[in-house]
Amino acid sequence: MIEKQNLLNFNQQALDGFFAELGEKPFRTKQLMKWIYKDKVFDFNQMLNLSKKLRENLNKIACLNLPTVVSKNYAHDGVIKWVINMGDNSNIETVYIPEKDRGTLCISSQVGCALACTFCSTGYQGFNRNLSTAEIIAQVLIASLDLNPKNKRISNVVFMGMGEPMLNEEAVYNACDLLLDDLAFGLSRRKVTISSSGVVPALERMSKRVPVSLAISLHASTNELRDELVPINKKYPIEELLKVCKIYLNAGTQERHILFEYVMLKGINDSAQQAEQLAKLLKGISAKVNLIPFNSFPQSDYQVSSVATIERFQDILFSRGIRTMTRKTRGKDVDAACGQLAGKVKDKTKRGG
Ligand code: SAH
Ligand code: SF4
Repeated sequence: MIEKQNLLNFNQQALDGFFAELGEKPFRTKQLMKWIYKDKVFDFNQMLNLSKKLRENLNKIACLNLPTVVSKNYAHDGVIKWVINMGDNSNIETVYIPEKDRGTLCISSQVGCALACTFCSTGYQGFNRNLSTAEIIAQVLIASLDLNPKNKRISNVVFMGMGEPMLNEEAVYNACDLLLDDLAFGLSRRKVTISSSGVVPALERMSKRVPVSLAISLHASTNELRDELVPINKKYPIEELLKVCKIYLNAGTQERHILFEYVMLKGINDSAQQAEQLAKLLKGISAKVNLIPFNSFPQSDYQVSSVATIERFQDILFSRGIRTMTRKTRGKDVDAACGQLAGKVKDKTKRGG
């Protein structure tokens, strides 16, 4: 028996190729995408503007499979966390964060993460596998099926859930294509953000391949400290990371900026001197800094910086002309805050012992 192709893996171009191979006209792509992404219909039999022959054929060779939702958790502040089973005993997490003027969906790109940042719960789980485009896009479909578009719409999508998106490039790029495509989710390029801990060669390719926003998880202003907090820094140190940031900033036709994420760890990276160093490092780069109060999880010994320390840090950056904001911690009571996503990961790297 042939394995059916899950058409949620295909961006518009891939669907054109798929239909061409079947001897169908390109307008079939538009029809199918409208059913899936606008009408949220996943049963070929209900797609009545496709010919009967095509529907029968699609049933034989293709499918539109959504993974199973294991649980849906509501935090007091309106945050919703879905735990989604991806088969093979793997669960990933997706989080919706409602705000006054927008609704952000935080999606996962991998089951676990191999990069082992010392302050991140996902990092502690180890790594199992990459998610497919279908599994990434399914998170957005599942959330939009569950949310009432009148008061809870998805205006922004950020790759800030489990995993390092730049170690799963193809699937993430195709998912970005669908997020931006008017025939699918139709989000503007400013409202889709890839967050990366700094996989430099991939970031160079990304700069040219998808016109989305970029967030860089910096967290330290010296290589010595960053080597410790974000171990991939040993491979791609800060100088190389900032070089590729400049490539990204110059690659677009529209003006670009980069959001630098900086987790606030008490007594580790939050001194006045470190704020000065950070300001120096970012001089001349079109940057915004997002200070993230550290969210604790069971395996971690770090503590969050005090409110006063975070304010001092922010004031120093402000005084050096750097746009800075402090991220509000959301969804903590359902373990949905930044860095708390653990899912269920059968670690294949055996790093955890
Ligand atoms: N792998 C990517 C995207 C997922 S992590 C990356 O590292 O950028 C999304 C953001 O959450 C990153 O900025 C990450 O550094 C931050 N984060 C991880 N653990 C955290 C924690 N315990 N508290 C606060 N933020 C955390
Ligand atoms: Fe992976 Fe990002 Fe967590 Fe680091 S912070 S371990 S790169 S998910």
